[in-house]
Amino acid sequence: MDIADQAQKEIERREAFAQQQRAPVAPVGETSANECQECGLEIPSARQLAIPGTQHCTECAGMIERGLL
Ligand SMILES: [Zn+2]
Repeated sequence: MDIADQAQKEIERREAFAQQQRAPVAPVGETSANECQECGLEIPSARQLAIPGTQHCTECAGMIERGLL
């Protein structure tokens, strides 16, 4: 293996690393539920995005915050 091969290998290694950085795996526990764990209603995707890891719809989350559930 000459120096050019080594340089090419290094470039490929760095590109693979950069691609991993661009596509991070979602952290465990941050995945929002599609359905409310309390009432089973669909959780709007906007809410799922706004509150990563949410498991409840807006109404149930409000009830839980007020200690009603
Ligand atoms: Zn709900």
